[in-house]
Amino acid sequence: MAAAPRLEVAAKGAKNPGTLEFLRGSPKKLLINGKWVAAKSGKTFESLNPANEEVLAEVALAGPEDIDEAVKAARKAFEEGPWSRMAPHQRTKLLLKVAELIEKNGEQLAELSALDNGAPLIGAQAQVASASELFTYFAGWPTKIYGETNPSAPDMFNYTLREPIGVCGQIIPWNGPLMSASNKLSHALSTGNTVVLKPAEQACLVVLRLGELLMEAGVPEGVVNIVPGFGPVAGAALSNHPDVDKIAFTGSTTTGKKILEASVATLKHVSLELGGKSPHVIFADADLEPALNYAAIGIFGNTGQACIAGSRIFVQESIHDKFVEGMVQRAKAHKLGSQFEPGVTMGPVVSKVQHERVLGYIEAGKSEGAKAVAGGAAGPQPKGYFVQPTVFTAVRNDMKIAREEIFGPVAAVIPFKDENDAVLQGNDTTYGLAAGIWTRDISRAHRVARRLKAGTVWINCYMVLDFAMPFGGYKQSGQGREFSNHAIEMYTQMKSVFVRL
Ligand code: NAP
Ligand code: MG
Repeated sequence: MAAAPRLEVAAKGAKNPGTLEFLRGSPKKLLINGKWVAAKSGKTFESLNPANEEVLAEVALAGPEDIDEAVKAARKAFEEGPWSRMAPHQRTKLLLKVAELIEKNGEQLAELSALDNGAPLIGAQAQVASASELFTYFAGWPTKIYGETNPSAPDMFNYTLREPIGVCGQIIPWNGPLMSASNKLSHALSTGNTVVLKPAEQACLVVLRLGELLMEAGVPEGVVNIVPGFGPVAGAALSNHPDVDKIAFTGSTTTGKKILEASVATLKHVSLELGGKSPHVIFADADLEPALNYAAIGIFGNTGQACIAGSRIFVQESIHDKFVEGMVQRAKAHKLGSQFEPGVTMGPVVSKVQHERVLGYIEAGKSEGAKAVAGGAAGPQPKGYFVQPTVFTAVRNDMKIAREEIFGPVAAVIPFKDENDAVLQGNDTTYGLAAGIWTRDISRAHRVARRLKAGTVWINCYMVLDFAMPFGGYKQSGQGREFSNHAIEMYTQMKSVFVRL
């Protein structure tokens, strides 16, 4: 029997004919100035399916010279092209068209997104819905970005203009590639900027397909450039480029600090969405079933690869054992497997590197005396980067597994005595991205929400996003706010105009 073609093995189970069609005919190219081009070096890299370690596609590998071309194209489009003369309502129409194309191609985008980072199809479908919603939400903004008419002396007329910043370098991670790219692009485009976007090399295929849809929607050439490449080379070239006006970065705190350092030479605008070690606080009076369900989603959703993962679960002493029992049940109920297998609820982590990293943390937890009451090992699959959903008890907040972001399905359950103890332990972290509170006491809920140092606090829910609500981190979880009117401020600058009458 003839061996199955490699791609059919790599993308096994994908149903949309467009998925295989897109993956065939590699290498995937760079989008620069409205054209798909090979890297100047001619180099490519392999994009893998983390569920079976097979090659999905060859992708052109951007180097500093490609980044430079892309920045030049973005500069030209910003200063001279039709983009700079486009009326606000036309930008609205364009963004709505993108949202429509995302929906129309939803099945293919979900499959590509799932193949890219290993998420089960149902998780990838949710990303498609969010991506389309992001473009729809930000399509509403171009016609609502106002300046001011200011109080002026009798012989003067003074006003302000809110203007785009210019060329935006955007660097994103792999954990939700379609959503991250749509988030960054919708923000920049609604405010009239141009973009050079560097996706993470582990999951860039769906971002390249999104690039095709942007072109189909009629985004003018040079306005969006997409350049997959390695972080320390392509990412660093972008964040150091003297003609980039703003860098918007989502990724780890360690890389975020490098981005900020690189911005100093030309004083770039910088916004950072970084890591987290979010406290999920369960009081004894909580409605236990939903608290357990959300605590489990909070740490096992997307295989724990979420910046807002509720990775430190603080449980009031009197319900600790019962709660742990519920978490163990939920961990064990997960079915691990590849993207398109029926009933699969948890995919692999994204790469070999992440696999080793997450398993390393599990070992560190054990050696520091924490107890893995569920999971605590790699998945049983012979191939693919699977990790069993893991629940640690006997965790102290000073252990490595409670301090460092693991970015895998590993929950640290930590007991607390009372409200004050919960707040002090919850805040005892260098991060401040998110927090969750479960209690039926309305006063306590709001008191604790005020005291927890986090950019987002969920009361009796978790991981709810609304693009009308700002999103960003306290402490080392970031700078700036995405979504909402605050994102519009972050992607624009204000000019004061004085007129002598
Ligand atoms: P990462 O290593 O910081 O990578 C993120 C992006 O930065 C990738 O595109 C990466 O490229 C690039 N990069 C790496 N080194 C760089 C450098 N020296 N200069 C410029 N760019 C560079 O993060 P990750 O491990 O992939 O992603 C997980 C992290 O993202 C977690 O910490 C998570 O909490 C965070 N995250 C935060 C949010 C949020 O909104 N706050 C959302 C999602 C994820 P390559 O990987 O291709 O080399
Ligand atoms: Mg991949």
